[in-house]
Amino acid sequence: MRLGFRRTAVQVVCTVLALCGLIGLVRGGADSVTAFGEEVAVRVPILMYHSILKDGARQGKYVISPDVLGADLDYLKKEGYETITVSDLLAYVDGSGQLPAKPVMITFDDGYYNNYVYAYPLLKDRGMRAVISIIGYQTDFFSQNGQENAYWSHLKLEHLSAMQDVIEVQNHSWNLHEYGERRGCLRRRGEDQSSYANFLRQDTEQTQELLTEAGLPTPQCYTYPFGACSDESEQILKDMGFLCTLGCEERVNTVTRDPECLYEMGRFNRPTVMSTAAYMKKALGE
Ligand SMILES: [Zn+2]
Repeated sequence: MRLGFRRTAVQVVCTVLALCGLIGLVRGGADSVTAFGEEVAVRVPILMYHSILKDGARQGKYVISPDVLGADLDYLKKEGYETITVSDLLAYVDGSGQLPAKPVMITFDDGYYNNYVYAYPLLKDRGMRAVISIIGYQTDFFSQNGQENAYWSHLKLEHLSAMQDVIEVQNHSWNLHEYGERRGCLRRRGEDQSSYANFLRQDTEQTQELLTEAGLPTPQCYTYPFGACSDESEQILKDMGFLCTLGCEERVNTVTRDPECLYEMGRFNRPTVMSTAAYMKKALGE
């Protein structure tokens, strides 16, 4: 009898606790939904690097030394910045993830082999991440040709696979870096809309396929060659399923829950002439 009473009392307490827990969970869930549904604006500066070489004679607008890159990364760490990638931006926008208090995205354009030699270890040592946007044709060419020269080689597929712990790979066209009649991926003078759309889709798709067939994640971001973009290129890329595009307009981005904020994102090129403090002041908007 007493045992029975005890058991009943224990059952009642358990039921009450379970109900409280359930209510708490429901409340927690509701609160989370509210929090995710809110339009929270976050400042996201994006840094743009290209080639990294020790040779001082080659350094300039698009080539910096490993020491300069190291100093930049140390500055960001000291100031409390945390590196994010496009996946983090997408997760924030769709409500499935949060961004750190001081996010920064580090990007490398063109996919030079020297990024593997110099940038990868510098980032990895500091627990930082970055986005490399590759020119598909170059990665395909050097994957077959096998050359590994810091001056002119581009990353092979095997390098991209080896850097997955630090690097997120995005699409920087198949082969649209030639100055000719077309600037980057823009429509040529006199080219009709449908042939242009086919051209851009085909060029872009080749890089998607190269990466996917190598077992790498399918890019969700298109990085404009020379930053040259237009309303029609944006629409074509959106229709292809790209959720983010990176341009070269120098401005700090404001990221909200609105998916539109991830298109034509601003970036700051890192030339060798500026000191780390001067470049960061400009790029971080401090
Ligand atoms: Zn480029």
